[in-house]
Amino acid sequence: MVFEDVKLTKILILLFSKSYLWQSEAGSPKSEVRSRKLYLPLSSDFRLLTSDLLITNIIEMMVLDELYEKSLHLIPLDIDEGVALYNLAPLEELMFVANRLRQLHNPGNIAGWMIDRNVNITNICFSQCSFCNFCRKKGSEDAYITSIDEYKTKVDELFSLGGDQLLLQGGMNPGLDLNFYLELFRNLKKLYPSLKLHALGPPEVVYLSKKEHLSYSVVLSKLIEAGLDSLPGAGAEILSDRVRKIVSPAKASSEEWLDVMREAHKLNLPTSATMMFGHVETASERIEHLIRIRDLQSEKQENHFGFITFIPWPFQDEGTMLLKKHGVRSSYNGPDYIRMIAISRILLNNIRNLQASILTVGKEIGMLSLHAGANDLGSIMIEENVVSAAGANNRFNADEMQSIIREAGFVPGRRNQKYELV
Ligand code: SF4
Repeated sequence: MVFEDVKLTKILILLFSKSYLWQSEAGSPKSEVRSRKLYLPLSSDFRLLTSDLLITNIIEMMVLDELYEKSLHLIPLDIDEGVALYNLAPLEELMFVANRLRQLHNPGNIAGWMIDRNVNITNICFSQCSFCNFCRKKGSEDAYITSIDEYKTKVDELFSLGGDQLLLQGGMNPGLDLNFYLELFRNLKKLYPSLKLHALGPPEVVYLSKKEHLSYSVVLSKLIEAGLDSLPGAGAEILSDRVRKIVSPAKASSEEWLDVMREAHKLNLPTSATMMFGHVETASERIEHLIRIRDLQSEKQENHFGFITFIPWPFQDEGTMLLKKHGVRSSYNGPDYIRMIAISRILLNNIRNLQASILTVGKEIGMLSLHAGANDLGSIMIEENVVSAAGANNRFNADEMQSIIREAGFVPGRRNQKYELV
């Protein structure tokens, strides 16, 4: 009991000094966070304070307060701190802190969007990830490799709609070698010199590097020379090998994914980072994913692009092997997505842009994300075949995308892949 009293006294002193501090710092970010919640019933019956629950709550509030403070000063949080925020912080407080950080990185009221077109190079893939409905085995009736004539039709349509970028993705087809991709990029650039190629991803680079016995750096340099403009963060899923062994055992390991991105950053190739969550990962693995991306970003040369943006999206379970064979349903829900958006903004203190995946979460959650740290809603994505094959069917045209941004209280800013307004 004496111990409890001492503990209580210490807490009261600390709280009193903190409440004094808040008053003295009126107008500071911390006091604004704090003023959103009634914290301490100082005038209430002191007998209440003997409750263990109240002590726990007070300690939690103090811990959160320190974490908000560190976050607002762009001090990197460690994994335990990230998990504590994820598990304990009230959503409205996380949103408030993340929104302040968004303003720090991107002052103003503009929310980004873009026009690009997804074309799948091939749907033949040896990887057969258990969350993917898109891939086919060689010899399947509906297996394909996109022909140059099909590219022409698709690129002409892209230009007619005002876009100039192709997101080129697809399976890891054992029949295609590095030369195939080099030829494809060269042909597309010859036909359409102003076309931007946001293409492949670390798993393809790992695959091509093994197939050709070349380093990641050489593979990337050759692809850049042939016309690659930027490298999507595809295939990150969750950067934990425990998770990858379950959802994508044949794909690049987390270390390989990071190694490719490290080389891309050295070559000053613009890249993005992604996360697909809501399947078999733990909260701690989500946070670890963010920290690994942040740590890699901190290695890049100051004047290099590095990760231009981070894009988290939820696992879509419809018809996937993960659901059919292993009974894993998507744990996606709106509040959890908003929480992950806010946590991403807070943890990724060195990545300027944060994109909400309106294609997978839809209009309302997309709009809320813009108030939780996101500064972008991504592309209207003319033709998307991968996440839509697993149940994500949110589609918007350019006018709808802009009116959604306005409805959320922001000014739509059309941008390119480097997040420059166009
Ligand atoms: S997610 Fe990509 S790598 Fe995995 S099976 Fe599908 S196409 Fe292949």
